[in-house]
Amino acid sequence: MGRVKFTIVGGGMVAGYAAKQFVELGAKPGDLAILSGDAAIPYERPPLSKGFLLGLEDEASIRINPEDFYRQNGIEIRLKCTVRSVDTNKRRLVFQSGEELLFDNLVLATGSRARRLDIPGANLPNVLYLRSMSDSKRIRQTASGAKRAVVLGGGFIGMEVASALTQLDVETTIAMREERVCKNFFTPEMSRFFENYYANRGVRFVHGVKLVELQGSDCLTTAVFADGKTIACDLLVAGIGAQPSLDFLEGSGIKIDNGVVVDEHLETSTPGIFAAGDIANYPDVLFAKRRRVEHWDNAVSQGRHVARTLISGRTQFRHVPYVFSDVFDLSYELWGDPTGADRVVYRGDPATKNFSAWWTRANIVVSAFLMNRPDKEREWAPRMIESKRVVQVANLIDETAALAD
Ligand code: NAP
Repeated sequence: MGRVKFTIVGGGMVAGYAAKQFVELGAKPGDLAILSGDAAIPYERPPLSKGFLLGLEDEASIRINPEDFYRQNGIEIRLKCTVRSVDTNKRRLVFQSGEELLFDNLVLATGSRARRLDIPGANLPNVLYLRSMSDSKRIRQTASGAKRAVVLGGGFIGMEVASALTQLDVETTIAMREERVCKNFFTPEMSRFFENYYANRGVRFVHGVKLVELQGSDCLTTAVFADGKTIACDLLVAGIGAQPSLDFLEGSGIKIDNGVVVDEHLETSTPGIFAAGDIANYPDVLFAKRRRVEHWDNAVSQGRHVARTLISGRTQFRHVPYVFSDVFDLSYELWGDPTGADRVVYRGDPATKNFSAWWTRANIVVSAFLMNRPDKEREWAPRMIESKRVVQVANLIDETAALAD
């Protein structure tokens, strides 16, 4: 491979959406190379814990771009390719194989990897994690012969995988060290709603526990907790957080601090080298703070942004953080950042599946959660957060009151 104008390290969602944007903005054949550690061309990650895990979607339907998109547009895409180091002085990448590649502009987009258990029995074959398409396939295959599963962690993976396993007729227990699900961004009322919803569909919850051992001879049979509790299971999926994949940047001189530190253009401390997606620690200009976001929307928006920057010039990345999730027959969205809010109010009843929650600080909306709400309300939420306008909180609560701009 000769010198390429734009090189993306990492073949995930950033790469898929950046490639699409590069092509839409007129990048020429030969301009872009993608170096991916994955075995598959860029695919959407959200379905891996939802439709793909349930067998409702297949490999082709979750691709970000069709299979022949890369060839047709002259984009070189290397799969199962590991970059070992980045030499910023010689603007050179060194692969695991020892091969080298010179670059002009580089986009770092290696995403995260699942945090792994470090306890006895963690290497048993039915102890699984969810990050890649092959992980999702493995969980689905294992679930097809399983009766009982433990899902460790009450965050996004825990909630989504437990919903899917239950729908696959696997008796599922969510075991977590916290006292309620999604405690970092749900109010107690919201956690209660979701736990009741899950319990009514057969999911069991065990709170405040610490997993200390996994037992079984060839295969997992029992999860053992610090308080002596045991749960019989044929499968355990751990959703205990993720860590940004940064090892290859060691010694590169690129500034690292809770991810790759970038400026408001998503450029790293080395000119011409950008970072996007899970690994990027960026200044959120709307909230005047740095953040690193491990969600689909962030990868998509930053992937597109970096492509626009490289083709059309630098612009500030200005974006209201957004997260969505689908569990059982529920879909919800979360906008903004509730940190530092002084009040939270509900529009609709948080004991039902049709409500929104609004976090305000000094009567300015900083975050909103919406589930089964009218489109007008959904569109209003990010607009309000971005505008930072003072609102009448009473109107947020009163469902008959219009939400005025
Ligand atoms: P997560 O949402 O951060 O939740 C991890 C949960 O596991 C947290 O509740 C955490 O508790 C707990 N935990 C951490 N270490 C633990 C340990 N050693 N033992 C037991 N519990 C532990 O992470 P995730 O669910 O694993 O998901 C991985 C990443 O993918 C996250 O960044 C997530 O945002 C992303 N993801 C997003 C979506 C979506 O946007 N819909 C869907 C799937 C995954 P503490 O909070 O107390 O540390």
